[in-house]
Amino acid sequence: MKITLNGAANEVGRSGVLVEGNNTRLLFDYGVKLQEPKPAYPLPINGYLDGVILSHAHLDHSGALPLLYKGSEPKTFMPFGSYELVDILLKDFLKIARMKKQEVWYESHLKRFKRNAVEIDYHKETKVGDASFTYYDAGHILGSAMTYVELDGTRFIYSGDYKDTETRLHRPAEVDKIPEADVITIETTYGNREHPDRGELEKQFVEEVKKSIEAGGNVLLPAFAVGRSQEIAELLYSHNVDVPVYLDGMSQDVAEVYLEYPELIRDYEELYNALKWVNWIADERERKKVFDEPSVVISTAGMLNGGPILYYLLTAHQKKIDNLSILFTGYQVEGTPGRELREKKRINVDGYDLDFSFANIQYFDFSAHCDKHGIHRLLKKVNPSVVILNHGDPESEDEVRNWVLDNLGARVFKPKIGETLDVSNYVRK
Ligand SMILES: [Zn+2]
Ligand SMILES: [Zn+2]
Repeated sequence: MKITLNGAANEVGRSGVLVEGNNTRLLFDYGVKLQEPKPAYPLPINGYLDGVILSHAHLDHSGALPLLYKGSEPKTFMPFGSYELVDILLKDFLKIARMKKQEVWYESHLKRFKRNAVEIDYHKETKVGDASFTYYDAGHILGSAMTYVELDGTRFIYSGDYKDTETRLHRPAEVDKIPEADVITIETTYGNREHPDRGELEKQFVEEVKKSIEAGGNVLLPAFAVGRSQEIAELLYSHNVDVPVYLDGMSQDVAEVYLEYPELIRDYEELYNALKWVNWIADERERKKVFDEPSVVISTAGMLNGGPILYYLLTAHQKKIDNLSILFTGYQVEGTPGRELREKKRINVDGYDLDFSFANIQYFDFSAHCDKHGIHRLLKKVNPSVVILNHGDPESEDEVRNWVLDNLGARVFKPKIGETLDVSNYVRK
C-alpha cells in the first residue's frame, strides 16, 4: 500500500491523502487552504480514482472536491449528515472567491460532484474497488468521521479531524470502538498543546459575558458557522443569560441543518430550545437595533474575514460602545483579521483602520479538535506499526513524532507534500 500526502503535509489546510493498493486508488479528503492573495489547493490527482472518502464538511477537507470532476466522475462517500453542510460551504466558498476574482472550480464541476455524492451511516461497511471502509463518529462537527479501511490485507485508519471528549453538541469520538490497524494517518493540530477543562472554560466564558452586560455593555462573539455558533448559543441558553442574544450570518443556515439530525446531536432538546430562544437576525433593520440595549451577538465570520460581524465591529467602533467585549471562541489563524484584532486590538474594515483598545478582547479555547492527550489515546488504541502525521504545524508534528518513538514500537513519518511512502515495507506481519 502506497500513501501520498497531496496536501496538509506539515501544515493545516488543503487535506488530501492518496492511498493506492494493487488495483484500487482511493482519495481521502480534498480541501482548500484559505489564504490571501489566493486559496491553495492540494497537488492534482492524476489518473483514475475508485472513490473519494470524505471525513467531514469543513472546507480544508472538502473545498477542492469539485476540481476532481473536470472530466471524471468518481463517487464521493461522506458521513451521514454532512452533505448539506458541504453544499452550504462550497457555495459560500465559490461566492467569495468570485467576489475576490480568485481562481476556483466552476459551477458545472460542483453539480457533477453533487450528482456523485453518497452519504454513508456510521458503522456500515461499504465496498469500493478492492477496499472496504467503515466510518466511526469523530465528535468534531455534524457528520464527521474517522475512517477504518481494509485494502489488500492491510488495515488503515484515516483519523480526519476528531475530538475525543464530549462537547455541548457532540458525543466524543469513538476511540474505544475503532478497530486496531496497521497504518494510521493522524491529524496533529494540537499535538503539542493541552485544552483547558471544558466545564471550567464554559464557566469563565459565561462570567466574562455576564460582566459586560451587567455593566450595560454589549458582547460580540465572532464564531465559526459550523458547530461553534450553535454550541455557543446552547451554552448561553443553558447558563440563563438574560439579555437578548442574536444569531447572524451563515450560522443560521447551518443551524437549520443541525436541527434536521437529532440522532447526531448529544442533547437535541437543549439545542432545539436554545435555537428557538436566540433571536435570528433577519435584515438590516434588525441589525441596527442590537446596540440599543445590552445584548450578545453571535456572528460569522469566526476569523473576521467577511460576514455580518464586520458590520457589528464598524458600528460598535463608531458608537464607541462602553463595556464592549469581543470574545473569540475559535483559533485565529495567522494572517487573518481576527488574529490581528486579538493581538494588536486593531482591524481594517472596508479600508478603515479601527482601533479597539477601548474594548475587552479575549480568547477562549473552545476547540473541536482533540489535544495531545487525545492524539496519544487514539494511537495507543489503534496500536499501528506505521504512523503518518498530517494536518499540523511542524512543531506540533515533531512533538507527536517524539512521543511515538518513546512510547510505541512503531515507525513514524511526517512526509513532505507529494512524497510517496510504500508502507508495505514497514507493516509488521
Ligand atoms: Zn475540521
Ligand atoms: Zn481540518
